[in-house]
Amino acid sequence: MRNTRKIVLVGTGLVGMSFAYALLNQSTCDELVLIDIDKKRAMGEAMDLNHGLAFSGSHMKIYAGEYNDCAGADIVAICAGVAQKPGESRVDLLQRNTEVFRSIIDPVMESGFGGIFLIATNPVDIMTYVTQKISGIDPKRVIGTGTTLDTARLRYMLGDYFSVDPRNIHAYVMGEHGETEFVPWSQALLATKPILSLCEESGHRYCCQDMEKISQDVKNAAQKIIEAKKATYYGIGMAMARIVRAIFGNESSILTVSSLLNGEYGQNNVYAGVPSIVGRNGIGGIISLSLTREEQEKMDKSCEFLRGLIKDIGINKQ
Ligand code: NAD
Repeated sequence: MRNTRKIVLVGTGLVGMSFAYALLNQSTCDELVLIDIDKKRAMGEAMDLNHGLAFSGSHMKIYAGEYNDCAGADIVAICAGVAQKPGESRVDLLQRNTEVFRSIIDPVMESGFGGIFLIATNPVDIMTYVTQKISGIDPKRVIGTGTTLDTARLRYMLGDYFSVDPRNIHAYVMGEHGETEFVPWSQALLATKPILSLCEESGHRYCCQDMEKISQDVKNAAQKIIEAKKATYYGIGMAMARIVRAIFGNESSILTVSSLLNGEYGQNNVYAGVPSIVGRNGIGGIISLSLTREEQEKMDKSCEFLRGLIKDIGINKQ
């Protein structure tokens, strides 16, 4: 392994730059290349970040670059995307974003890139699948942010509800990053105590109905933030920086990134948010939780929905 940690970020909008800002503040890499279709924007962002370097403990080399800079990169992170036009269907938007991804991934691969793709563009599970299909690289090296942010939101809300440090909450949001995502409550723990048992034994202090409300609040969080400030970006930027730390540190950390399922949870040919082992080579494995029958049905429904979208955009036929 080389001793410089190099990241190329494609898409220097709100999400991309929140990620870049988190990388700078956490000294997560040594070299950061910014690429955007709007070259002037990427240049301005590089200047702005560089002017903060003196106040950080970091010695990062930051510059606006080109796709041939991907050659020696460890990670190419994609946060580029186009917004939905009025009257445009979800599938039309998906097809347009697929074309955007083709215009990015082809030159990345032509550069000789041999690292890991990290995808944040929505719908993230589909765009991660598209990235793997277009690039043709080992699926273990194509990672989507999946439900990492949703899981962070869940742990934050549960920590608040039970008045404990969210780091002592072990619970996941799984499936699609979107409407069909779900929380397998049978697998949720506070320290090593099952949360459902805690609710049942608490004498009405805590209750299972509140857990359902929390999973709804997690699902609606993005919409609520968008209503208030038009977009969400800090949380996802921090989630991406966390995934990058797991990769560079070869941590084998368990994160609910979007991984390609190959028989796990009875699913195939779909990327979805599942607890995955993340390290230097990307996805080192997937943890198969013991879901209840009801939870497994939710997983089936979520993956079915994602496979339907993949079929609609026809990426497999190209
Ligand atoms: P934004 O509009 O601020 O930024 C998008 C950037 O992509 C722009 O700078 C644009 O110039 C660039 N771009 C467009 N086409 C390009 C191309 N062909 N090549 C290179 N760059 C191109 O949007 P944003 O708020 O930063 O959001 C980016 C994406 O992240 C969206 O798809 C959004 O839905 C998604 N997102 C994901 C999560 C998650 O949990 N995964 C959370 C929040 C947002």
